[in-house]
Amino acid sequence: MKYCRRCLQPDTRPDIKFNEDGICNACLYEDFKKQIDWEKREKDLHAIAAWAKANAKTYDCVVGVSGGKDSTFQAIYAKEKLGLNPLLVNCAPDNITEVGRNNLENLVQWGFDMISLRPDPRIMKKLTRRAFYEFGNPIKPSEYPLYASAYIIADKFDIPLIIQGENAALTLGVVNGLGADGNALNVNEGNTLAGGNASDWLDDDIKPEDVFMYQFPDKNRLIQKNIKAIYLQYYVREWSNTHNTDFAVARGIGGRTQESLYDIGRYRRYSAVDSDMQIVNQMLKYYKFGFGFATDEACYDIREGRLTRDDAKWYVREYDGKCGQQYIEQFCRYIDISTQEFWRVTEKFINKKLFAKDETKWIPKFQVGEDFDESQ
Ligand SMILES: [Zn+2]
Repeated sequence: MKYCRRCLQPDTRPDIKFNEDGICNACLYEDFKKQIDWEKREKDLHAIAAWAKANAKTYDCVVGVSGGKDSTFQAIYAKEKLGLNPLLVNCAPDNITEVGRNNLENLVQWGFDMISLRPDPRIMKKLTRRAFYEFGNPIKPSEYPLYASAYIIADKFDIPLIIQGENAALTLGVVNGLGADGNALNVNEGNTLAGGNASDWLDDDIKPEDVFMYQFPDKNRLIQKNIKAIYLQYYVREWSNTHNTDFAVARGIGGRTQESLYDIGRYRRYSAVDSDMQIVNQMLKYYKFGFGFATDEACYDIREGRLTRDDAKWYVREYDGKCGQQYIEQFCRYIDISTQEFWRVTEKFINKKLFAKDETKWIPKFQVGEDFDESQ
C-alpha cells in the first residue's frame, strides 16, 4: 500500500491514479483549480440558469437533496444566487436518523417544494442483505435510487435542468481527465455506480417492477428532451468541504454530536449524517482497503489547508475504521442476522495482507501515511 506524497490517499482506493511523483489525482485537481478561469465558469453557469428559466414549464431545475451540507448549499445557491425555482427531490434512506430528518425540514423551511421518493423497504432490505454478503458493501443498493431520483423526476416533469453537487470522480481523484466538463448526465457511469443499472439486482425474487426507482431514465431520451445536468462544483469557485459545511451550518443544519465521533469513525460532524448504516459501511471499507471515512476527511483537510499531513495522520490513526457496537447491532437487526454472522461474513472481506488478528481484534499491519510492503 502506497500513500500520496501530499495527502493521505492510499493507492488501495479502487481506480485511483497517481502521477510519476507519487501525487494522487485529487491533489493534482487541487493544483489545477488555481488555473481555472472561474469568472468564465460563473458566466457560463448564469447562462445555463437563464436557459433553464426560458425553457421551464413548471420548475426550472431539480436538486437531489439529503439536507446535508452539500445539498443545502446547492439548493440555496440555485434559488438565491441563480434566481431559479428549484424542485427538491429527496430519496430518504431506510432508518433515516433524527438529525437527517431535521436537516431536510430545515432545508424546505428556506422556501422550497420537495418531492420524497421512498423505495419499498422490504425490497431495499433484501438487496442490502445481498450486497453485504456479496460485496461487503451494504450501502450499494441504496445508491441507485439516491442518484436516479433527480433524473427520474426531471424526466417525468419535463424539468430542463438537474443540478448535481460534487463530481466525486474529481475530488476523490479516480479519473484521469482533470479537464472533465460540468456535464452530469453520465453520473451513473461514475465509480460507485459503474455500469449501474437496476437489472444488477434482478433475481428469482426481485422483478423489474420492484426496482423502478433504482433505474436511471434512458439517457438518449433525456438528451432528446434537451434535459441538462450539471455539477455545481465545476462552476463555483468557493465549492469545498469546508465552505459548504460553514455555509450549511450558518443555514441551520445539524450534525453528529462531539461525543459520538469515536463511535462513527470520523472526526468531523457534518458528513453523511442521515444514515447510520454508512458508519458500518465505512468500517467494512476500512477492513477491505485499509482506509475509512476519517482518511477521506483528512485528505480534504490537507488539500484545503486546514491540517498538515502530519497532524492529519493522528486523526486517521485515532478515528479511522471505528464503529460503535450499537451501529453494528442496528444493522444486524435491519438485515435480520446475528452479530456472530456479521463478523463471520465481515472476516471474509478483511484484507489479510493489511490486517492481522490478535486474540479478538483485527489490527492494521501498516502505519498510516507510510508506504507498506504487503508481502510482509
Ligand atoms: Zn493526494
